[in-house]
Amino acid sequence: MLTVANVLQALRDWAPLELAWERDNIGLLAGSKDVEVERVLVCLDLTEEVAKEAAALSCDLIVSHHPVIFHPLKSILTDTEQGFVISTCLKNDISVISMHTNADATYAGLNYALAEKLGLRNITALSPADTTMDNLVFFTEPEAEHNESFFHALKRLRGTRWTASQFENGIARIEVNTPSWNNLEVQSIARSEFGESMITSQHSKLSDAVEGYGIGAIGTYDEAMPVDSFIASVKTLLDCDGLRTTPMSGSVQIRKVALCGGSGASYIKYAVAAGADAFVSADFSYHEFQDFRKKILLVDAGHYETEQVFIDLCSDVLRKAFPAGETSLEINSTRINTNPVRFA
Ligand SMILES: [Zn+2]
Repeated sequence: MLTVANVLQALRDWAPLELAWERDNIGLLAGSKDVEVERVLVCLDLTEEVAKEAAALSCDLIVSHHPVIFHPLKSILTDTEQGFVISTCLKNDISVISMHTNADATYAGLNYALAEKLGLRNITALSPADTTMDNLVFFTEPEAEHNESFFHALKRLRGTRWTASQFENGIARIEVNTPSWNNLEVQSIARSEFGESMITSQHSKLSDAVEGYGIGAIGTYDEAMPVDSFIASVKTLLDCDGLRTTPMSGSVQIRKVALCGGSGASYIKYAVAAGADAFVSADFSYHEFQDFRKKILLVDAGHYETEQVFIDLCSDVLRKAFPAGETSLEINSTRINTNPVRFA
């Protein structure tokens, strides 16, 4: 039997909650972690229409990108959209998990998926996450026989490395380097695997950054392309009805591209500093176009258009974590286009 807690754990393994912007509101936001889950609906925005879709599909869980609750609520009134959504979910026993800036900042997260969709290669984070590695050392009794199952449990935690050595008296020394957000989990796995046979443990902070995690992404094309072809390909690949860009001469070539799904204006300077030819994101202001027009090609491809990759990406993460042949979890992607912006 799968529960909301199991699904949340799989989502955390992919996009650790600790990566989120400190003022974000993510994780399980409605329902209960102990409820059984048979059907999930993945969406970008949990609108009234999406809540009705989840109820019609008899889903037990919705996973959204934008948090269903962001600002503190003072009331839940069913004649407002948010109140209707929350009450519809609770009346139909639907829990809600939101994966927002942690899904933006994780390795192989939203921005990696957007970079892949644009055909970029050699993809890495644009602004590396401000997190470091922790070092944990465990000493176990000579007769401890749990090392292999401990190592097996660690494999789930991405970016974790370990070594084991043995003293002459048979005591084992196991050293684990892992991203800081895994520290407590590694200790908990060690306690449950080694139990009484664990003599002692030590842990310390390393100065090494955790590689691959961070906001935005940057990558390159194998061959540079003319600016007009690049803009046309972004428009096609992201299914945009319109784009806003800085003016660029047709002779400019685009090879190195930075991007940030959603409102990424504050990362334009990182794209410029990284030497990118173009920056694809959304919600740029007039003055941002003006200030950077001679430094980089800005492409405002739309908030929904640059974030909609979340739906397929998150559905795939869940399908890999809960394979069809091994579990009965049904994973649905919303069929509703929740883009609130239209081009006239
Ligand atoms: Zn967004």
